[in-house]
Formats: sequence, C-alpha cells, structure tokens
Amino acid sequence: MGNDLSCYFDVQSCMTNLRSVSMPHSLESQPVECSAVINAAGAWSAKVAEMAGVGRGSPNTAEGTKLPVEPRKRYIYMFNSPDGPGMDCPMLIDSSGVYFRREGFGGNYIGGLSPSEEEEPDISNLDVDHNYFQEKVWPLLAHRVPVFESLKVKSAWAGFYDYNTFDQNGVIGTHPLVQNMYFACGFSGHGLQHAPAVGRAVAELLIDGDFQTLNLKPFGFQRFIMNMPIKERNINME
Ligand SMILES: Cc1cc2nc3c(=O)[nH]c(=O)nc-3n(C[C@H](O)[C@H](O)[C@H](O)COP(=O)(O)OP(=O)(O)OC[C@H]3O[C@@H](n4cnc5c(N)ncnc54)[C@H](O)[C@@H]3O)c2cc1C
Repeated sequence: MGNDLSCYFDVQSCMTNLRSVSMPHSLESQPVECSAVINAAGAWSAKVAEMAGVGRGSPNTAEGTKLPVEPRKRYIYMFNSPDGPGMDCPMLIDSSGVYFRREGFGGNYIGGLSPSEEEEPDISNLDVDHNYFQEKVWPLLAHRVPVFESLKVKSAWAGFYDYNTFDQNGVIGTHPLVQNMYFACGFSGHGLQHAPAVGRAVAELLIDGDFQTLNLKPFGFQRFIMNMPIKERNINME
C-alpha cells in the first residue's frame, strides 16, 4: 500500500479533466495522462483527493462530499517490566482502550491509548507527550496488569493515523464522479492488518473491473454521500 503513482513523484499539481485526473505539470519530463490513480496517500489522502477536485462542489452534494480522512497523532511507548506477562501473552486491548503487546523478549512491551476527541494532540509535529503516558496510559496498564506498576519506559515515538472521521474504516474503490481515481486509504490505525486484502481488492478492481474475492463495495466512497457509516465495535469506541 502507498505504492501508487504518487510515490514516484510528489503529487503537487493535479486537475480534473472531464472528471479524470491528469497531471499536466508533473515532475516527469512531460504531462502525465493517468489511466488510473490510486489514492493511497495515508493521512494525506484527503489532500490528494482535493487536488483532484473531490469535495469542491456545494455542500450536501456528491461533488461537495469530501474524503473525511485526516492526520491524527498517536503515541507508542516501549517499556520494560522484567516480571511482566510472558510468552503466552497475546496482544491485549483493554476495555478502557489501552493496549499492549510483547516486543520481543526480555520483558519488553509496546503499548498506547488513543486520546479522546477533546484530547487530540497538535499535529504540527511528531513530538511525544510523555505526560500522557504518566497520567493516562500507565494507570490503565497497571490496573490491567498490576506488575506494570513498576515498569520503566525505554523509548517512545509518534506517528499519524490516517483517520477516517466518518466511521473509522478504510475507503476502498472508485469515486462516483472522478472516474479514474481509486481509493485505498482511511484505515484509521488498522491499515497494516487490512493491507493484503485491500491490495488484492484494488488490483481486482483495476484488472477485472470489479471485486472478485471479497465484495468490498460497502467500503466505497459512496457511503459518505449516502450517509451510511460502517460501524465496527472496538474500533468506534475510541
Ligand atoms: C502509532 C501507530 C500505530 C499503529 N498501529 C497499527 C496496528 O497495530 N495495526 C495496524 O493494522 N495498523 C496500525 N497503524 C496504522 C497503519 O500504520 C496505517 O493504517 C497504514 O500504515 C496505512 O498504510 P497506507 O499505505 O494506506 O498509508 P501510508 O503507509 O501512510 O503511506 C502513504 C504514503 O503516501 C505518501 N504520500 C502522501 N502524500 C503524498 C503526495 N502528495 N505525493 C506523493 N506521495 C504522498 C506518503 O509519503 C506515504 O509514503 C498504526 C499507525 C500508527 C501511527
């Protein structure tokens, strides 16, 4: 995923031409007439869609419906707890939303917690908020696994979820108006798990003209226009 045309050059200038994407000012040596454009730009996929005119019409119309995907910063903390759960410990997602899994051997784990809407961090940088671990994540971890009371944080990092604000699920398939744009984005923090199936599904759409193995039509852009969210428990609880 993410390995589409847009990865070979920075997509800075697109225009819709008879409702098709083309790139008259591409960084290639000549204008690019695209037969198919796969928007797999992750957290920036709404920006790429907008370049192709998606969402530029009047509100509450198909033309005016934006791709509802935006970057949301999430932290992963790596911690050590020598007496923590061992080899038989699965990845655990607590009902509070806190999650962790073993990271190799030696009592190492990684974990985190998605913030509430009110707590959404600034996305202008990828700085890690260490207080967030102290105040929000650690108490929940220690409640679930008491031995984590004495854990030690070793490192941490932040990344951007490709967050679909509409229903936190992937956007897969064509656009009803921009005829050569395909979507494979908006996976909202579970895109790695979906990647093999989505890659196959989009390949089928391109080669065969329709989904063959799994019918993923419900995940299409159309659902934003029709206001038909796909709700999935445990994803939408955050
Ligand atoms: C902290 C964190 C933890 C996560 N944990 C999990 C997990 O446990 N399980 C899971 O399944 N998923 C997880 N995810 C989510 C997962 O990483 C994403 O859903 C997945 O990486 C999305 O893949 P993608 O190929 O669609 O997008 P990306 O991997 O984001 O790729 C998009 C690509 O598009 C490029 N791009 C953007 N704009 C342009 C442009 N204008 N021109 C050219 N290229 C452009 C970017 O540079 C990037 O290379 C996590 C994400 C984060 C941040």
